[in-house]
Amino acid sequence: MFLIDTHTHIYLEDFDADRSSVILRAKEAGLELLLMPNVDESTIDRLNQTASEWPGYCLSMIGLHPTSVNEATPSSLPWIVEGIQTGRYVAIGEVGIDLYWDKTYQQRQIDIFCYQIDLSVEFGLPLVVHSREATGLILDILATYNNKPKGVLHCFSGTEAEARRAIDLGFMLGIGGVFTYRKSNLADIVTAVGLQHILLETDAPYLSPVPHRGQRNEPAYTRLVAEAMAAHLGLMAEEVAGITTANARKLFSI
Ligand SMILES: [Zn+2]
Repeated sequence: MFLIDTHTHIYLEDFDADRSSVILRAKEAGLELLLMPNVDESTIDRLNQTASEWPGYCLSMIGLHPTSVNEATPSSLPWIVEGIQTGRYVAIGEVGIDLYWDKTYQQRQIDIFCYQIDLSVEFGLPLVVHSREATGLILDILATYNNKPKGVLHCFSGTEAEARRAIDLGFMLGIGGVFTYRKSNLADIVTAVGLQHILLETDAPYLSPVPHRGQRNEPAYTRLVAEAMAAHLGLMAEEVAGITTANARKLFSI
């Protein structure tokens, strides 16, 4: 089975004690690539360090996460464009809008999201979007662009109607451990839209799938999501892996 974890934060401190074993377990579970979204300027060095320790296996993105926007303006973020110009990043991420934790910087979050959409279009890099209580707003913003970026709504948490809207706008849906939670609507959404629009991810160290719910998540658990999805759709896990891995290779040009 060949899987790609399209969203994993294994460069964070949570994995400092055992990162090599985590990566070994990922390889044993059939993970052929790990994609690492950035958080903010303070995480870039760790991200680059991890990418350079596992070249060709841990690939990185660059961008500013909405919960780190604070007072940022485009001119206070030269490190993003400078990073893009090094050519070592496969995507702009993670970016987006998060209205769950704090609405203080809502307009600032929107401005910085739009700035990073512009970068995605200008440099032809896919956009990895974080949305929390903001999926409708994010889709409204994306709909205003004539020249639309391509990308993924990571950890998709909207309705089926929003899923269809996202797909119509050219976006994929990133699905992880939440798929295995009893109250999740994701199984119905995946059945409705089809695997050709789905990427697998963990969002490690967060959102572990059953039976590890509540514990630290890790890339190897991508396999549990693939197996749960396959069981729901009446397919072999290899078929889910094949389609979603091809989707990821196409979107990220990897
Ligand atoms: Zn993330």
